[in-house]
Amino acid sequence: MASITMDNLCKVYIGGVKAVSDVNLDIADGEMIVLVGPSGCGKSTLLRMVAGLETISDGTLKIGDRVVNNLEPADRDIAMVFQNYALYPHMTVFNNLAYGLKNRGFKKAEIDRRVREAAQMLEIGQFLDRKPRQLSGGQRQRVAMGRALVREPAAFLFDEPLSNLDAKLRVQMRVEIRQLQKRLRTTSLYVTHDQLEALTMADRLVVLNAGRIEQVGTPMELYSRP
Ligand code: ADP
Ligand code: ADP
Repeated sequence: MASITMDNLCKVYIGGVKAVSDVNLDIADGEMIVLVGPSGCGKSTLLRMVAGLETISDGTLKIGDRVVNNLEPADRDIAMVFQNYALYPHMTVFNNLAYGLKNRGFKKAEIDRRVREAAQMLEIGQFLDRKPRQLSGGQRQRVAMGRALVREPAAFLFDEPLSNLDAKLRVQMRVEIRQLQKRLRTTSLYVTHDQLEALTMADRLVVLNAGRIEQVGTPMELYSRP
């Protein structure tokens, strides 16, 4: 586990769009921060900067005690959950979960342990031999979550992970993800444009507007503010 520290983070895209401006934010160890704001306000850019999928134009980003500005995604000790699941269609659920660990040279026994533990937590143990197309949307989303869990990362990054699910499943999954996050106490940054999702999941909400932080607070603080 680790804190995430953003110190005057800025992102200027080629062509001059200022997508993120002077963002200062300390995410505590084990905390779940939800980033909200209108389309185009910079949520996804900021998340991708933390993931290492976008370069940082200015400022300092730390995960734990390490400055990670120039580290590759794979070296940042984070795992990301995408809205499109990013599962390999030709692989079984087991191999989808195991793939990243195999690539990183983990031993078979350790891979087995981690995959089975994650599958049990997510209640997908009975699907390990299936292919993604043989699963429902909710089950696929659990596998995507499992791919992040098996890494046992210092932090989770969620990029609108529930936006492809129907309304009922979205409500169920946001409760499940939140419970899992609380149980594991893994520092998390979660992007959504869904207000209700944000309110129910966040320890603290961060409202972005035009690339800047407009408000930060617990759901209670922001909700009861006049
Ligand atoms: P959000 O996730 O809140 O919808 P984004 O981070 O996707 O916002 O976008 C923030 C701003 O940066 C927008 O003005 C968007 O058009 C711009 N932007 C996003 N990606 C790129 C890119 N690759 N090149 C140039 N501009 C971009
Ligand atoms: P993992 O890193 O989970 O073991 P991969 O080796 O398949 O999985 O992916 C390598 C990196 O590529 C990931 O860490 C992630 O940053 C990026 N990546 C994977 N899938 C996607 C996607 N659908 N969209 C954007 N980036 C992706």
